[in-house]
Amino acid sequence: LNAAGFTDYYDIDGLLTEEHKLIRQSIRDFVKKEISPSIEKWAQDNHFPSEIVKKFGDVGAFGPTIPTEYGGGGLDYISYGLIMQEIERGDSGMRSTASVQGSLVMYPIYAYGSEEQRKKYLPKLASGEWLGCFGLTEPDHGSNPGGMVTNIKDMGDYYLLNGAKLWISNSPEAQVAVVWAKNEQGRIKGLIVERGMEGFTTPEIHNKWSLRASCTGELVFDNVKVPKENLLPNVEGLRGPLGCLDSARYGIAWGAIGVAIDCYESALKYSLEREQFGKPIAAFQLQQKKLAEMITEITKAQLMVWRLGMLKNEGKATSAQISMAKRNSVDMALQVAREARQIHGGMGITGEYPIMRHMMNLESVITYEGTHDIHLLITGADITGIQAFK
Ligand code: FAD
Repeated sequence: LNAAGFTDYYDIDGLLTEEHKLIRQSIRDFVKKEISPSIEKWAQDNHFPSEIVKKFGDVGAFGPTIPTEYGGGGLDYISYGLIMQEIERGDSGMRSTASVQGSLVMYPIYAYGSEEQRKKYLPKLASGEWLGCFGLTEPDHGSNPGGMVTNIKDMGDYYLLNGAKLWISNSPEAQVAVVWAKNEQGRIKGLIVERGMEGFTTPEIHNKWSLRASCTGELVFDNVKVPKENLLPNVEGLRGPLGCLDSARYGIAWGAIGVAIDCYESALKYSLEREQFGKPIAAFQLQQKKLAEMITEITKAQLMVWRLGMLKNEGKATSAQISMAKRNSVDMALQVAREARQIHGGMGITGEYPIMRHMMNLESVITYEGTHDIHLLITGADITGIQAFK
Protein backbone atom coordinates (compact mmCIF):
# COMPACT_ATOMS: atom_id res chain seq x y z
CA LEU A 1 0.00 0.00 0.00
CA ASN A 2 1.24 3.51 -0.71
CA ALA A 3 1.03 6.40 1.73
CA ALA A 4 -2.60 6.98 0.73
CA GLY A 5 -3.40 3.38 1.65
CA PHE A 6 -3.70 2.31 -1.97
CA THR A 7 -2.31 -0.85 -3.55
CA ASP A 8 0.71 0.42 -5.45
CA TYR A 9 3.43 -2.21 -5.69
CA TYR A 10 5.65 -0.31 -8.14
CA ASP A 11 5.35 3.15 -6.60
CA ILE A 12 3.24 4.45 -9.46
CA ASP A 13 2.43 7.34 -7.12
CA GLY A 14 5.96 8.50 -7.88
CA LEU A 15 4.73 9.18 -11.44
CA LEU A 16 1.82 11.33 -10.25
CA THR A 17 1.79 15.05 -9.46
CA GLU A 18 0.57 16.46 -6.15
CA GLU A 19 -2.55 17.66 -7.98
CA HIS A 20 -3.27 14.12 -9.22
CA LYS A 21 -3.00 12.78 -5.69
CA LEU A 22 -5.25 15.50 -4.28
CA ILE A 23 -7.90 14.83 -6.91
CA ARG A 24 -7.74 11.11 -6.21
CA GLN A 25 -8.07 11.72 -2.49
CA SER A 26 -11.09 13.99 -2.91
CA ILE A 27 -12.91 11.42 -5.05
CA ARG A 28 -11.89 8.67 -2.70
CA ASP A 29 -13.32 10.56 0.28
CA PHE A 30 -16.48 11.20 -1.71
CA VAL A 31 -16.91 7.51 -2.57
CA LYS A 32 -16.32 6.52 1.05
CA LYS A 33 -18.94 8.98 2.27
CA GLU A 34 -21.58 8.98 -0.45
CA ILE A 35 -21.37 5.57 -2.15
CA SER A 36 -19.73 2.84 -0.08
CA PRO A 37 -22.10 2.94 2.93
CA SER A 38 -25.17 2.39 0.72
CA ILE A 39 -23.99 0.64 -2.43
CA GLU A 40 -24.69 -2.87 -1.24
CA LYS A 41 -28.30 -1.98 -0.44
CA TRP A 42 -28.79 -0.07 -3.71
CA ALA A 43 -27.45 -3.04 -5.67
CA GLN A 44 -29.48 -5.61 -3.72
CA ASP A 45 -32.61 -3.45 -4.16
CA ASN A 46 -31.87 -2.75 -7.83
CA HIS A 47 -32.10 0.94 -7.00
CA PHE A 48 -30.51 3.84 -8.88
CA PRO A 49 -29.90 6.63 -6.34
CA SER A 50 -30.86 9.60 -8.49
CA GLU A 51 -29.62 12.03 -5.82
CA ILE A 52 -26.06 10.89 -6.65
CA VAL A 53 -26.20 12.79 -9.95
CA LYS A 54 -26.07 16.23 -8.32
CA LYS A 55 -23.42 15.01 -5.88
CA PHE A 56 -21.25 13.74 -8.75
CA GLY A 57 -21.61 17.18 -10.31
CA ASP A 58 -20.54 18.90 -7.08
CA VAL A 59 -17.42 16.75 -6.71
CA GLY A 60 -16.35 17.28 -10.33
CA ALA A 61 -16.89 13.73 -11.59
CA PHE A 62 -18.68 14.82 -14.78
CA GLY A 63 -16.52 15.87 -17.71
CA PRO A 64 -13.23 16.29 -15.86
CA THR A 65 -11.34 16.95 -19.11
CA ILE A 66 -13.90 19.39 -20.56
CA PRO A 67 -12.65 23.03 -20.34
CA THR A 68 -13.75 24.99 -17.28
CA GLU A 69 -15.56 27.66 -19.36
CA TYR A 70 -18.21 24.99 -20.07
CA GLY A 71 -18.36 23.81 -16.46
CA GLY A 72 -15.87 20.95 -16.87
CA GLY A 73 -12.78 20.32 -14.76
CA GLY A 74 -10.12 21.31 -17.33
CA LEU A 75 -8.01 18.42 -16.03
CA ASP A 76 -5.60 16.07 -17.80
CA TYR A 77 -6.24 12.43 -18.69
CA ILE A 78 -4.33 10.98 -15.75
CA SER A 79 -6.69 12.89 -13.42
CA TYR A 80 -9.66 11.60 -15.40
CA GLY A 81 -8.35 8.04 -15.09
CA LEU A 82 -7.79 8.38 -11.35
CA ILE A 83 -11.34 9.73 -10.88
CA MET A 84 -12.80 6.76 -12.77
CA GLN A 85 -10.61 4.35 -10.81
CA GLU A 86 -11.78 5.68 -7.45
CA ILE A 87 -15.46 5.68 -8.44
CA GLU A 88 -15.32 2.17 -9.86
CA ARG A 89 -13.52 0.94 -6.75
CA GLY A 90 -16.84 1.81 -5.17
CA ASP A 91 -19.03 0.32 -7.91
CA SER A 92 -18.95 -0.15 -11.69
CA GLY A 93 -22.57 1.00 -11.99
CA MET A 94 -21.73 4.30 -10.33
CA ARG A 95 -18.72 4.68 -12.63
CA SER A 96 -20.98 3.93 -15.60
CA THR A 97 -23.20 6.86 -14.66
CA ALA A 98 -20.19 9.16 -14.50
CA SER A 99 -18.52 7.88 -17.69
CA VAL A 100 -21.69 8.07 -19.76
CA GLN A 101 -22.27 11.65 -18.64
CA GLY A 102 -18.69 12.81 -19.18
CA SER A 103 -17.43 10.79 -22.13
CA LEU A 104 -20.55 9.87 -24.05
CA VAL A 105 -22.78 12.93 -23.56
CA MET A 106 -20.59 15.92 -22.67
CA TYR A 107 -17.67 14.91 -24.88
CA PRO A 108 -19.66 14.71 -28.16
CA ILE A 109 -21.47 17.97 -27.39
CA TYR A 110 -18.10 19.59 -26.71
CA ALA A 111 -16.22 18.00 -29.63
CA TYR A 112 -18.95 17.96 -32.31
CA GLY A 113 -21.47 20.52 -31.08
CA SER A 114 -22.05 24.16 -31.98
CA GLU A 115 -21.09 26.91 -29.57
CA GLU A 116 -24.80 27.37 -28.71
CA GLN A 117 -25.14 23.67 -27.93
CA ARG A 118 -22.03 23.72 -25.77
CA LYS A 119 -23.34 26.70 -23.79
CA LYS A 120 -26.85 25.32 -23.46
CA TYR A 121 -26.04 21.77 -22.33
CA LEU A 122 -22.52 21.43 -20.91
CA PRO A 123 -22.81 23.52 -17.70
CA LYS A 124 -26.07 21.79 -16.71
CA LEU A 125 -24.59 18.35 -17.41
CA ALA A 126 -21.36 19.20 -15.57
CA SER A 127 -23.23 20.36 -12.47
CA GLY A 128 -25.50 17.31 -12.44
CA GLU A 129 -28.62 19.41 -12.92
CA TRP A 130 -29.27 17.25 -15.97
CA LEU A 131 -28.44 13.60 -16.54
CA GLY A 132 -27.62 12.41 -20.05
CA CYS A 133 -27.47 9.14 -21.93
CA PHE A 134 -25.90 7.87 -25.16
CA GLY A 135 -27.91 5.92 -27.71
CA LEU A 136 -25.87 3.87 -30.13
CA THR A 137 -26.75 0.17 -29.60
CA GLU A 138 -29.96 -1.14 -31.17
CA PRO A 139 -31.86 -4.39 -30.64
CA ASP A 140 -30.36 -5.87 -33.83
CA HIS A 141 -27.09 -3.94 -33.96
CA GLY A 142 -24.69 -4.23 -31.02
CA SER A 143 -21.13 -5.01 -32.08
CA ASN A 144 -22.02 -3.75 -35.54
CA PRO A 145 -23.38 -0.24 -34.87
CA GLY A 146 -22.82 0.76 -38.51
CA GLY A 147 -25.84 -1.40 -39.38
CA MET A 148 -28.18 0.82 -37.33
CA VAL A 149 -31.69 1.41 -38.64
CA THR A 150 -32.70 4.39 -36.45
CA ASN A 151 -33.11 7.22 -38.94
CA ILE A 152 -33.87 10.88 -39.50
CA LYS A 153 -35.75 12.53 -42.35
CA ASP A 154 -35.22 16.18 -43.17
CA MET A 155 -38.67 17.78 -42.99
CA GLY A 156 -37.51 21.31 -43.72
CA ASP A 157 -38.09 22.89 -40.28
CA TYR A 158 -37.11 19.83 -38.26
CA TYR A 159 -35.84 16.22 -38.43
CA LEU A 160 -38.28 13.35 -38.03
CA LEU A 161 -36.63 10.66 -35.89
CA ASN A 162 -37.75 7.02 -35.88
CA GLY A 163 -36.25 3.85 -34.43
CA ALA A 164 -35.16 2.36 -31.12
CA LYS A 165 -32.04 1.96 -29.02
CA LEU A 166 -31.47 -0.80 -26.47
CA TRP A 167 -29.23 -1.21 -23.42
CA ILE A 168 -28.90 2.49 -22.77
CA SER A 169 -27.30 3.37 -19.43
CA ASN A 170 -29.07 6.19 -17.54
CA SER A 171 -31.90 6.33 -20.10
CA PRO A 172 -34.90 6.00 -17.74
CA GLU A 173 -33.66 8.97 -15.68
CA ALA A 174 -32.02 11.12 -18.35
CA GLN A 175 -33.21 14.55 -19.44
CA VAL A 176 -30.98 14.54 -22.52
CA ALA A 177 -29.96 11.79 -24.98
CA VAL A 178 -27.19 11.95 -27.55
CA VAL A 179 -28.59 9.72 -30.28
CA TRP A 180 -26.93 8.35 -33.41
CA ALA A 181 -29.15 7.92 -36.46
CA LYS A 182 -28.81 7.60 -40.22
CA ASN A 183 -29.92 10.40 -42.52
CA GLU A 184 -31.57 9.88 -45.92
CA GLN A 185 -28.12 9.45 -47.48
CA GLY A 186 -27.33 6.64 -45.02
CA ARG A 187 -24.78 8.82 -43.15
CA ILE A 188 -24.64 8.57 -39.35
CA LYS A 189 -25.43 11.84 -37.57
CA GLY A 190 -25.64 12.76 -33.88
CA LEU A 191 -28.68 14.47 -32.37
CA ILE A 192 -29.53 15.84 -28.95
CA VAL A 193 -32.97 14.55 -27.99
CA GLU A 194 -34.66 15.96 -24.91
CA ARG A 195 -37.13 14.35 -22.56
CA GLY A 196 -40.58 15.71 -23.24
CA MET A 197 -40.29 15.67 -27.03
CA GLU A 198 -43.47 14.05 -28.32
CA GLY A 199 -43.05 10.40 -29.33
CA PHE A 200 -39.88 9.89 -27.24
CA THR A 201 -40.04 7.29 -24.44
CA THR A 202 -37.44 5.53 -22.29
CA PRO A 203 -38.74 2.20 -20.91
CA GLU A 204 -36.55 0.64 -18.22
CA ILE A 205 -34.92 -2.80 -18.57
CA HIS A 206 -35.67 -4.90 -15.48
CA ASN A 207 -34.17 -8.04 -13.92
CA LYS A 208 -30.49 -7.33 -14.54
CA TRP A 209 -28.05 -9.35 -12.43
CA SER A 210 -25.32 -6.82 -13.15
CA LEU A 211 -24.90 -3.06 -12.62
CA ARG A 212 -27.96 -3.19 -10.40
CA ALA A 213 -27.34 0.30 -8.98
CA SER A 214 -27.26 1.78 -12.48
CA CYS A 215 -30.45 2.22 -14.48
CA THR A 216 -30.56 0.85 -18.01
CA GLY A 217 -33.29 1.21 -20.56
CA GLU A 218 -34.42 1.72 -24.11
CA LEU A 219 -34.87 4.83 -26.20
CA VAL A 220 -37.93 4.63 -28.42
CA PHE A 221 -38.53 7.23 -31.14
CA ASP A 222 -41.94 7.30 -32.76
CA ASN A 223 -42.04 10.18 -35.23
CA VAL A 224 -40.12 12.49 -32.88
CA LYS A 225 -39.76 16.03 -34.23
CA VAL A 226 -36.22 17.08 -33.40
CA PRO A 227 -35.44 20.78 -33.98
CA LYS A 228 -32.69 21.35 -36.55
CA GLU A 229 -30.53 23.15 -33.99
CA ASN A 230 -30.28 19.86 -32.06
CA LEU A 231 -28.16 18.18 -34.74
CA LEU A 232 -24.45 17.96 -33.87
CA PRO A 233 -23.04 19.91 -36.82
CA ASN A 234 -19.38 18.94 -36.75
CA VAL A 235 -19.32 15.18 -37.26
CA GLU A 236 -20.58 12.57 -39.66
CA GLY A 237 -20.20 8.78 -39.85
CA LEU A 238 -19.16 6.16 -37.34
CA ARG A 239 -16.15 8.19 -36.26
CA GLY A 240 -18.63 10.32 -34.24
CA PRO A 241 -19.76 7.64 -31.81
CA LEU A 242 -16.41 5.84 -31.95
CA GLY A 243 -14.62 9.02 -30.84
CA CYS A 244 -16.86 9.14 -27.75
CA LEU A 245 -16.26 5.46 -27.08
CA ASP A 246 -12.49 6.01 -27.14
CA SER A 247 -12.87 8.44 -24.29
CA ALA A 248 -15.21 6.18 -22.29
CA ARG A 249 -13.13 3.06 -22.91
CA TYR A 250 -10.08 4.90 -21.65
CA GLY A 251 -11.97 5.61 -18.40
CA ILE A 252 -13.00 1.95 -18.12
CA ALA A 253 -9.38 0.84 -18.55
CA TRP A 254 -8.61 2.78 -15.35
CA GLY A 255 -11.89 2.06 -13.61
CA ALA A 256 -11.70 -1.72 -13.81
CA ILE A 257 -8.33 -1.59 -12.05
CA GLY A 258 -10.17 0.07 -9.16
CA VAL A 259 -12.42 -2.99 -8.94
CA ALA A 260 -9.41 -5.33 -9.05
CA ILE A 261 -7.74 -3.39 -6.24
CA ASP A 262 -10.87 -3.50 -4.09
CA CYS A 263 -11.17 -7.28 -4.57
CA TYR A 264 -7.46 -7.85 -3.98
CA GLU A 265 -7.34 -5.76 -0.81
CA SER A 266 -10.40 -7.53 0.56
CA ALA A 267 -8.94 -10.97 -0.29
CA LEU A 268 -5.55 -10.17 1.23
CA LYS A 269 -7.13 -8.97 4.47
CA TYR A 270 -9.50 -11.91 4.66
CA SER A 271 -6.73 -14.44 3.98
CA LEU A 272 -4.66 -13.05 6.84
CA GLU A 273 -7.59 -13.13 9.28
CA ARG A 274 -9.33 -16.35 8.35
CA GLU A 275 -7.79 -19.43 9.97
CA GLN A 276 -8.16 -23.03 8.89
CA PHE A 277 -6.06 -26.01 10.02
CA GLY A 278 -4.64 -23.77 12.75
CA LYS A 279 -3.15 -21.11 10.47
CA PRO A 280 -4.28 -18.11 8.42
CA ILE A 281 -5.29 -19.31 4.97
CA ALA A 282 -2.69 -16.80 3.64
CA ALA A 283 -0.06 -19.26 4.88
CA PHE A 284 -1.06 -21.84 2.26
CA GLN A 285 0.85 -21.79 -1.01
CA LEU A 286 -2.28 -22.07 -3.16
CA GLN A 287 -3.75 -18.91 -1.60
CA GLN A 288 -0.42 -17.09 -1.90
CA LYS A 289 -0.30 -17.99 -5.59
CA LYS A 290 -3.72 -16.41 -6.10
CA LEU A 291 -2.72 -13.23 -4.25
CA ALA A 292 0.68 -13.00 -5.96
CA GLU A 293 -0.90 -13.38 -9.40
CA MET A 294 -3.46 -10.70 -8.55
CA ILE A 295 -0.93 -8.08 -7.49
CA THR A 296 1.28 -8.87 -10.50
CA GLU A 297 -1.60 -8.37 -12.94
CA ILE A 298 -2.84 -5.23 -11.15
CA THR A 299 0.66 -3.74 -11.32
CA LYS A 300 1.02 -4.50 -15.05
CA ALA A 301 -2.36 -2.92 -15.76
CA GLN A 302 -1.56 0.17 -13.65
CA LEU A 303 1.60 0.79 -15.66
CA MET A 304 -0.25 0.27 -18.93
CA VAL A 305 -2.98 2.81 -18.19
CA TRP A 306 -0.51 5.33 -16.80
CA ARG A 307 1.47 5.23 -20.05
CA LEU A 308 -1.76 5.35 -22.06
CA GLY A 309 -2.79 8.43 -20.08
CA MET A 310 0.48 10.16 -20.91
CA LEU A 311 -0.06 9.35 -24.60
CA LYS A 312 -3.60 10.71 -24.34
CA ASN A 313 -2.32 13.91 -22.74
CA GLU A 314 -0.03 14.32 -25.76
CA GLY A 315 -2.91 13.55 -28.15
CA LYS A 316 -1.08 10.44 -29.35
CA ALA A 317 -3.09 7.51 -27.95
CA THR A 318 -4.63 5.44 -30.76
CA SER A 319 -8.04 3.77 -30.64
CA ALA A 320 -6.31 0.40 -30.89
CA GLN A 321 -4.12 1.18 -27.87
CA ILE A 322 -7.24 2.14 -25.91
CA SER A 323 -8.96 -1.10 -26.99
CA MET A 324 -6.02 -3.13 -25.72
CA ALA A 325 -6.08 -1.42 -22.32
CA LYS A 326 -9.88 -1.66 -21.93
CA ARG A 327 -9.81 -5.36 -22.76
CA ASN A 328 -6.82 -6.10 -20.56
CA SER A 329 -8.03 -4.21 -17.49
CA VAL A 330 -11.55 -5.63 -17.51
CA ASP A 331 -10.45 -9.21 -18.14
CA MET A 332 -7.79 -8.87 -15.44
CA ALA A 333 -10.32 -7.45 -12.98
CA LEU A 334 -12.77 -10.26 -13.68
CA GLN A 335 -10.07 -12.89 -13.06
CA VAL A 336 -9.07 -11.12 -9.85
CA ALA A 337 -12.70 -10.94 -8.71
CA ARG A 338 -13.23 -14.67 -9.36
CA GLU A 339 -10.08 -15.65 -7.45
CA ALA A 340 -10.91 -13.21 -4.65
CA ARG A 341 -14.34 -14.77 -4.35
CA GLN A 342 -12.76 -18.17 -3.84
CA ILE A 343 -10.40 -16.85 -1.17
CA HIS A 344 -13.44 -15.55 0.75
CA GLY A 345 -14.97 -19.05 0.71
CA GLY A 346 -18.71 -19.05 1.37
CA MET A 347 -18.55 -15.50 2.70
CA GLY A 348 -17.54 -14.42 -0.80
CA ILE A 349 -21.03 -14.89 -2.15
CA THR A 350 -22.64 -12.56 0.39
CA GLY A 351 -23.10 -8.81 0.45
CA GLU A 352 -20.84 -8.66 3.52
CA TYR A 353 -18.01 -8.29 1.00
CA PRO A 354 -18.00 -6.38 -2.30
CA ILE A 355 -16.64 -9.26 -4.38
CA MET A 356 -19.75 -10.85 -5.85
CA ARG A 357 -21.27 -7.45 -6.71
CA HIS A 358 -18.05 -6.42 -8.47
CA MET A 359 -17.89 -9.73 -10.30
CA MET A 360 -21.44 -9.48 -11.58
CA ASN A 361 -20.91 -5.84 -12.57
CA LEU A 362 -17.84 -6.75 -14.60
CA GLU A 363 -19.91 -9.13 -16.72
CA SER A 364 -21.49 -5.99 -18.21
CA VAL A 365 -18.27 -4.02 -18.33
CA ILE A 366 -16.58 -6.82 -20.33
CA THR A 367 -19.43 -6.62 -22.86
CA TYR A 368 -20.26 -2.93 -23.18
CA GLU A 369 -18.16 -0.33 -24.96
CA GLY A 370 -17.01 -3.10 -27.30
CA THR A 371 -16.96 -6.73 -26.22
CA HIS A 372 -13.87 -8.60 -25.08
CA ASP A 373 -13.76 -10.45 -28.41
CA ILE A 374 -14.24 -7.35 -30.55
CA HIS A 375 -11.38 -5.55 -28.77
CA LEU A 376 -9.13 -8.54 -29.42
CA LEU A 377 -10.07 -8.37 -33.10
CA ILE A 378 -9.28 -4.63 -33.10
CA THR A 379 -5.78 -5.46 -31.86
CA GLY A 380 -5.59 -8.23 -34.46
CA ALA A 381 -6.60 -5.84 -37.23
CA ASP A 382 -4.12 -3.23 -36.02
CA ILE A 383 -1.13 -5.55 -36.02
CA THR A 384 -1.93 -7.49 -39.20
CA GLY A 385 -3.68 -4.86 -41.25
CA ILE A 386 -6.50 -7.38 -41.84
CA GLN A 387 -9.96 -6.84 -40.29
CA ALA A 388 -11.34 -10.17 -39.09
CA PHE A 389 -14.67 -8.89 -37.76
CA LYS A 390 -16.40 -7.64 -40.87
P1 FAD B 1 -23.61 -8.85 -30.00
O1 FAD B 1 -22.99 -7.80 -30.85
O2 FAD B 1 -24.81 -9.55 -30.53
O3 FAD B 1 -22.49 -9.91 -29.66
C1 FAD B 1 -22.77 -11.19 -29.07
C2 FAD B 1 -21.46 -11.97 -29.05
O4 FAD B 1 -20.97 -12.16 -30.39
C3 FAD B 1 -20.36 -11.24 -28.28
O5 FAD B 1 -19.60 -12.15 -27.53
C4 FAD B 1 -19.50 -10.64 -29.38
O6 FAD B 1 -18.14 -10.49 -28.99
C5 FAD B 1 -19.64 -11.68 -30.48
N1 FAD B 1 -19.42 -11.10 -31.81
C6 FAD B 1 -20.18 -10.18 -32.45
N2 FAD B 1 -19.64 -9.88 -33.63
C7 FAD B 1 -18.52 -10.62 -33.75
C8 FAD B 1 -17.50 -10.74 -34.75
N3 FAD B 1 -17.52 -10.01 -35.87
N4 FAD B 1 -16.50 -11.61 -34.54
C9 FAD B 1 -16.44 -12.33 -33.40
N5 FAD B 1 -17.36 -12.26 -32.41
C10 FAD B 1 -18.38 -11.41 -32.59
N6 FAD B 1 -24.96 0.79 -25.59
C11 FAD B 1 -25.15 2.12 -25.84
O7 FAD B 1 -25.23 2.55 -26.99
N7 FAD B 1 -25.25 3.00 -24.80
C12 FAD B 1 -25.17 2.61 -23.50
O8 FAD B 1 -25.25 3.45 -22.60
C13 FAD B 1 -25.00 1.22 -23.21
N8 FAD B 1 -25.02 0.77 -21.92
C14 FAD B 1 -25.03 -0.58 -21.67
C15 FAD B 1 -25.24 -1.05 -20.37
C16 FAD B 1 -25.30 -2.41 -20.11
C17 FAD B 1 -25.57 -2.90 -18.74
C18 FAD B 1 -25.10 -3.34 -21.18
C19 FAD B 1 -25.14 -4.81 -20.92
C20 FAD B 1 -24.89 -2.89 -22.46
C21 FAD B 1 -24.87 -1.51 -22.73
N9 FAD B 1 -24.74 -1.02 -24.04
C22 FAD B 1 -24.89 0.32 -24.31
C23 FAD B 1 -24.70 -1.96 -25.16
C24 FAD B 1 -23.36 -2.64 -25.37
O9 FAD B 1 -22.44 -1.73 -25.88
C25 FAD B 1 -23.61 -3.86 -26.27
O10 FAD B 1 -24.25 -4.83 -25.45
C26 FAD B 1 -22.33 -4.41 -26.85
O11 FAD B 1 -21.81 -3.53 -27.82
C27 FAD B 1 -22.54 -5.79 -27.51
O12 FAD B 1 -23.65 -5.79 -28.34
P2 FAD B 1 -24.74 -6.96 -28.20
O13 FAD B 1 -25.13 -7.05 -26.77
O14 FAD B 1 -25.78 -6.70 -29.20
O15 FAD B 1 -23.95 -8.27 -28.54
